[in-house]
Amino acid sequence: TLPVVAVVGRPNVGKSTLFNRVIGRRLAIVDDQPGVTRDRNFSPADWAGRHFYIVDTGGVIEDSDRPMDRLVREQAEVAIREADVLVLVTDGKEGLHPLDQKVAEMLRSSGKPVVLAVNKMDNLPRDPAHHEFWELGLGEPHAVSAGSGKGSGDLLDRIVELL
Ligand code: GDP
Ligand code: MG
Repeated sequence: TLPVVAVVGRPNVGKSTLFNRVIGRRLAIVDDQPGVTRDRNFSPADWAGRHFYIVDTGGVIEDSDRPMDRLVREQAEVAIREADVLVLVTDGKEGLHPLDQKVAEMLRSSGKPVVLAVNKMDNLPRDPAHHEFWELGLGEPHAVSAGSGKGSGDLLDRIVELL
């Protein structure tokens, strides 16, 4: 069976956009409103000859009265259980967020391989905004623009290295 890569992170950081980018079609629903992914999207994908499943964990968030904080953490727990490699997506335009810290802590203590993606870095390589994400203790922050695709090749290289 194929290894599983799970995409986790706060709402609206671009998880579904990245998921779509990786699978090369528009399956996940992307919207300006946080929490619009309707389901846990799951798709086969491949890069550099490596095949894997990728999961977009955004779905459980919608239709819930529970605090966002709690939901994001619950999704991270599910991802930690089910995935072989975890991709934490953050928002480089917004900068480091306290919830990024909390999720990073969970991922770190899971002992599973984690790749840190700093998304919305549309002005790569000039913009140094991703450097502050070293603070998360997850190793090198990979600057990416899921919207344009810039940086996504390097990110995928790192992901398949860890499979
Ligand atoms: P999710 O809630 O984490 O799944 O985030 P979405 O993928 O739904 O994206 C949330 C918003 O961020 C949408 O308006 C996207 O168009 C936007 N977005 C996603 N990736 C990028 C990017 O690389 N650059 C910019 N500027 N916006 C992006
Ligand atoms: Mg989504």
